[in-house]
Amino acid sequence: MLVASPDLIALARSQIILLTQSLGAVASAIYITENVSDGMPPNLVEVAVFPEEGAIALPDSFPILSMGIGGLVRQRRFVLPLIYKDTILGFLMTGRDDRDWLEYEQLQIQQIANTLAIACALDRHNQWLAANQQRNYEHQSNFLASLLHQLRNPLTAIRTFAQLLSRRIVAEDPNQKFVVGILRETQHIQDLISEADRPAQLLLSQAESEKALLPAAMEIAPIDLSEILEAIINFASAIAQERNIQFLANLPSHLPKVLGNESSLREAIGNLVENALKYTPEMGYVRLGVDVKPDTIYIYVQDTGVGIPDSDLPRLFERNFRGRQADGNISGTGLGLAIANELVQKMEGSIHVISQVGKGSTFAVTLKRAI
Ligand code: ADP
Repeated sequence: MLVASPDLIALARSQIILLTQSLGAVASAIYITENVSDGMPPNLVEVAVFPEEGAIALPDSFPILSMGIGGLVRQRRFVLPLIYKDTILGFLMTGRDDRDWLEYEQLQIQQIANTLAIACALDRHNQWLAANQQRNYEHQSNFLASLLHQLRNPLTAIRTFAQLLSRRIVAEDPNQKFVVGILRETQHIQDLISEADRPAQLLLSQAESEKALLPAAMEIAPIDLSEILEAIINFASAIAQERNIQFLANLPSHLPKVLGNESSLREAIGNLVENALKYTPEMGYVRLGVDVKPDTIYIYVQDTGVGIPDSDLPRLFERNFRGRQADGNISGTGLGLAIANELVQKMEGSIHVISQVGKGSTFAVTLKRAI
């Protein structure tokens, strides 16, 4: 909604004082138009009026279209449109009852109207710029938060692979120092990402929009699931081994193609698997499975972890929502599911969850089969 800025209101008031004190107007009012759209009468918003009680009442239906560019002169009352570049941005109404306006006075009032019109245009432009800036800011902070989150999965995988490698080569091996280097540098990047997470989260909570700013246009094509799932199984097995969790994969020998986007699907399923491993204590199970139906494919991630309370379920896919885990000691940002959900929706699929506290959770992604 458009509202006049304090500067415009101050200017409008000063012009009304000018009309009253220099030209003897007994009543004046300035209105700006808002929500101007084709064929609809615009709303008029009062910006300044004298006297305060509003001696000039604006007619209910104002004949804007029938007015000439020079405004209307109704006896001793002027109604001047505030026109900037052929657009009516508002109206100035003024009047006195004791004598007619002289020509030079009419000219002066026209000049006041011109000044007000320019001020209205600048005000509108400023408001548009501010709104645009806010939108860009939200866009960028959302984008940054998503990007940071998406860096986390591959980084965890690299670290886990390096940890496994480090254990498999003897301490005297000259390559050991390279592995130690990889571990040190990945830790460094993880620390940087955690640092960057904090301000990103603050920015996000200010953002009105809950939209994840992932690629606006996603290319959707028939894709091969097996390669994507194999990569996920690889990193999940390594992490599971690290955390003393049993990871099982249950894939049919032949997987039909699905409609989707490779990197988005890797990210979405990767997030679900990472969560399952994160929220499942030692000795638990995580299973990745696929069910093929005539038109759809279900990819499910099942765990025997801590589970999710019913009260958390309705908000689970909201950005920054961590529910019960917000008070727990498992760290997170509340972004993974929001990102996964948005990516899957862009692939015209859906994510469903069933869960029981203390028993575990199952997240299922439904995608269309490619014909
Ligand atoms: P994060 O894990 O970083 O907090 P997510 O968006 O991935 O963020 O998940 C949102 C919340 O959903 C988590 O904080 C947690 O409360 C819950 N959650 C997600 N996956 C699981 C799971 N497999 N088991 C238990 N809780 C989960």
